[in-house]
Amino acid sequence: MDGIFLVITHSPKGTMPTRKSSSKSSASDFIPEQLTLPSLKAAAANCKACDLWKKGTQTVFGDGRRRSLILFVGEQPGNEEDLTGKPFVGPAGKLFDAALAEAGIDRKQTYVTNVVKHFKWEPRGKRRIHKKPNATEIKACRPWLDAEIALIKPRVIVALGATASQALLGAKFRVTKQRGEFLESSLAPYIMATVHPSSILRAPDDETRRLEYRQFVDDLRKLAQVMSDML
Ligand code: SF4
Repeated sequence: MDGIFLVITHSPKGTMPTRKSSSKSSASDFIPEQLTLPSLKAAAANCKACDLWKKGTQTVFGDGRRRSLILFVGEQPGNEEDLTGKPFVGPAGKLFDAALAEAGIDRKQTYVTNVVKHFKWEPRGKRRIHKKPNATEIKACRPWLDAEIALIKPRVIVALGATASQALLGAKFRVTKQRGEFLESSLAPYIMATVHPSSILRAPDDETRRLEYRQFVDDLRKLAQVMSDML
């Protein structure tokens, strides 16, 4: 099997979230009794566990196959995701699709979601500009991700970008240093981190963007190879 395999000492909680009774500071209060992807998605549509529901148009829940071997996790929906209600459909999503296709991974065979399910933004003129979710919002939203992982039971979770990587692998994790490594985890047999496709779009010039895109495709190729070795 190709790739570097390490055992991580940090083991984030990966069990199915439990209901809490009073405070509405966690999405666990909104998790339905019957755990299916449709029931989770319907329940998440009414989540008010943090203030982000007031900013976003709608909850953008994960999307993909129930029995996916790969689960991708990004940070949060962007402007187009917020408007359409689907994850990874904006410019970063299109780059993601192209990179997946180059690496030989069929997105329809995977599951794609975010650490935070509402779009956090601030106005700049007429535009809505992405604003990074804070630790309280990430923690409040985490039960949805834990429930998705518990239902799908992926073989590999791929964290896209620093927010998703640190949410899954701990605050000390650095994508810049450990991208493309396959780490054992309590959440899935392996977690791999790489950059978020939106960071490639933000590259300062075309040449940097081209190089970063190639590196991203290389990470996904490594993933495709590991998946084919597992089957
Ligand atoms: S961001 Fe997550 S926790 Fe906050 S309201 Fe939306 S779905 Fe609920």
